[in-house]
Amino acid sequence: MDATAFFKIGYGLYIVTTRDAAGRDNGMICNTVMQLTAEPPRIAVAINKANLSHATAKETRVLNVCALSEEAPFAVFERFGFKSGRDSDKFDGFASTRSSNGLAVPGKYCTALFELAVADYIDLGTHGMFICDVKNAETLGAGATMSYAYYHANVKPKPAVAPAAPGGAAKWVCKICGYVYDPAENGGVAFEDLPDDWLCPWCKHPKSDFEKA
Ligand code: FE
Repeated sequence: MDATAFFKIGYGLYIVTTRDAAGRDNGMICNTVMQLTAEPPRIAVAINKANLSHATAKETRVLNVCALSEEAPFAVFERFGFKSGRDSDKFDGFASTRSSNGLAVPGKYCTALFELAVADYIDLGTHGMFICDVKNAETLGAGATMSYAYYHANVKPKPAVAPAAPGGAAKWVCKICGYVYDPAENGGVAFEDLPDDWLCPWCKHPKSDFEKA
């Protein structure tokens, strides 16, 4: 199987927001959002079970999808994508408003808002898929929604990677976020020798999303 074929599937990028029973807001970057039906309007959102948002959406059965605009800088992805809501308040110091369902909505960098109520849930193993009724939809900006391809081409930093020293093990770069794995900074452990379940420390994507620098 050619794993790179999966990069040819087109995606948009979204911030999914939730609010737990204690009133704690959370938000995460998500690319697995799609409209399923128009009548009634339904949207599917797949979320990794390791994400706090998965637990909160399952419990509250309410979530928002906010489509990111092409103006969103890398800092938005660092804030909402490379940290966990378990140990950081994603909205701390970030301008936001509230939608009619009480959830947080980023104050800028969004083109549209969908307020969702979970109608069905499908267990997909690593992920859970939330089949949602759209309770409200709003256009927030005139700009284009950011695609994954646009993010890779224009937003993700392109690290200047110095080649490994002669005799040294190769550096590997995360294709998702640009993190560079340098064996010299990791006890000399070659990338190939990392366990199969090792994840990118920034974006939590797997080894298969890395390429040799
Ligand atoms: Fe990464």
